[in-house]
Amino acid sequence: MRTQRQVVDYSLQRRALLRDVYAARVGTYEVCDASPYLRTAARFHGEQTEVLCPVCRREHLTNVHYIYGDELKQSAGQARRLKELDMLATMYKEFTVYVVEVCQSCGWNHLVEQYLLGRSELETELVPNV
Ligand SMILES: [Zn+2]
Repeated sequence: MRTQRQVVDYSLQRRALLRDVYAARVGTYEVCDASPYLRTAARFHGEQTEVLCPVCRREHLTNVHYIYGDELKQSAGQARRLKELDMLATMYKEFTVYVVEVCQSCGWNHLVEQYLLGRSELETELVPNV
């Protein structure tokens, strides 16, 4: 089971940025700049969403989950599927997940949210007053 904690939601920043894009205060070339790495991660490790791209509206957005944390060693910074996150959450005490949405058509990309996963919460519940 995935128990997300310390969730940081970036939807306000996303909305503000899109408002600037729609008002032509920010160019689409500035926000549709997904790197080749991000596009590849989206293709091979991404989770397709029901959300249409807010910029080109041609394609559904893909969410890519990046993991970071000292415990992960060489796996840190890698993109993982949701299924794998479930498994990793039982193996490690704590790691951070960054969710990035990507449009594989125009290259729009934005941080959606970040949160912590891992066993540490379960352990502190078992050992109160630490
Ligand atoms: Zn797009």
